Amino acid sequence: MHDIVILGGGSGGYACALRASQLGLSVVLIEKDKLGGTCLHRGCIPTKALLHAAEVADTAREGENFGVHSTFNGIDMTKVNEYKDGVIGRLYKGLQGLVKSRDITFVEGAGTLVAPNVVEVNGERYEGKNIVLATGSFARTLPGLDITGRIMTSDQALTIDYVPASVIILGGGVIGVEFASVWRSFGVDVTVVEGLPNLVPAEDAAVSKAMERAFRKRGINFKVGVRFQNAVQDADGVTVTLESGDTLRADLLLVAVGRGPRTENLGYEAQGINMDRGFVLTNERLATNVPGVFAVGDIVPGLQLAHRGFQQGIFVAEEIAGLAPQSIDESGIPRVTYSEPEIASIGYTEAQAKEKYGEIESYEYNLGGNGKSQILGTTGFIKLIRQKDGPVVGVHMIGSRVGELIGEAQLIYNWEAYPSEVANLVHAHPTQNEAMGEAHLALAGKPLHAHA
Ligand SMILES: Cc1cc2nc3c(=O)[nH]c(=O)nc-3n(C[C@H](O)[C@H](O)[C@H](O)COP(=O)(O)OP(=O)(O)OC[C@H]3O[C@@H](n4cnc5c(N)ncnc54)[C@H](O)[C@@H]3O)c2cc1C
Repeated sequence: MHDIVILGGGSGGYACALRASQLGLSVVLIEKDKLGGTCLHRGCIPTKALLHAAEVADTAREGENFGVHSTFNGIDMTKVNEYKDGVIGRLYKGLQGLVKSRDITFVEGAGTLVAPNVVEVNGERYEGKNIVLATGSFARTLPGLDITGRIMTSDQALTIDYVPASVIILGGGVIGVEFASVWRSFGVDVTVVEGLPNLVPAEDAAVSKAMERAFRKRGINFKVGVRFQNAVQDADGVTVTLESGDTLRADLLLVAVGRGPRTENLGYEAQGINMDRGFVLTNERLATNVPGVFAVGDIVPGLQLAHRGFQQGIFVAEEIAGLAPQSIDESGIPRVTYSEPEIASIGYTEAQAKEKYGEIESYEYNLGGNGKSQILGTTGFIKLIRQKDGPVVGVHMIGSRVGELIGEAQLIYNWEAYPSEVANLVHAHPTQNEAMGEAHLALAGKPLHAHA
């Protein structure tokens, strides 16, 4: 009998295994594919490598703006993929070494929950005092839209070895806009189709609007508030028909309409675990209704992000070890969209804050007044939302590289800082981070490089 049997070796599962082994618990970690899961092999890391290659392409293209002779001569997708796969390979090797160096029993194979405390893999039974479900998610599609040939999800899009001339992207959420950004930088004619009224619809309305302006400026086409009807592919391309009657044609169609929980036929329901539309329901301590069974990561309703999975995995290991960890505030989890421009946010949007707190104050610090942003040639803003006379309850940013500013933003939000407290902290000049200080100075009533 082991202390913990973990089903799934992605962000949530392996973080749980590493922390549990640190705490002296006996751990079995079961993975049917590759340790590291979606994030490392088909998610965060490969997309960010492509986005970096895209940034290099833009730098080459824009060199003349800075007095540097450079020209953009095209993309060698084989080499881009080599670079991307090299990054993944090194991280994968490191992770395998880390798991091996700990006292973790790593089992390769597909597991099924056959009793509330037993997972079966390749005919072997692993019994645990506790079970952690961490089987992750898959790319969804729409009814009647088969993923084949020129119609693909992010899984296939990350492996293509050529740059298409044109692409239609279904879905203007995080994954959709990241791919739109990469492909545009690679010279592709991109059209994003989003059913909701704005791109990145989960963000603060001001950020969504700014993103649309930025995409327009970059020549990325998009259609919002219009629903997909069907797609037909032939030897030369894909034709997409929208409910408005409009048709679009491109080399490829990327379906980026969200991710569903990977929980079917794994024995969860059969063992009496409460589920909702495939997601595993837990309480705030990540326990399911079946004693001794926990769930972490993308199968738990909420933000589908790797660092949420890491934190939940650590939490469950500590909970099982009896450390009574502090439960995780979902709105205190940072959210970054790594496109050009980047979006980073934490806490409540203005609309959500108004609903929750009634009276609020907000302030938008324009990056136009920030020296480093001028040097980089980026525009955008940092928008703060505070409870009236209270702490900061939302930080929303857009602009090149603002993802790197989320670290301070999350401290401000999670430590419930007042604008006047942050205004007292010194921010280095000239950094983009300085804009965070300036925004708080302004909200504290003493703007420096900004109008009131
Ligand atoms: C294109 C893309 C880009 C992304 N970019 C980011 C980003 O920049 N930042 C970010 O925070 N998040 C990003 N994400 C989201 C992130 O990848 C996920 O939130 C994260 O991987 C979830 O971790 P998880 O452990 O829940 O699931 P997963 O990483 O999916 O891991 C689950 C694991 O369980 C295994 N498994 C499933 N069933 C079984 C079984 N029966 N037996 C054994 N093993 C099984 C799977 O093989 C898999 O390895 C991105 C996702 C995608 C698709």
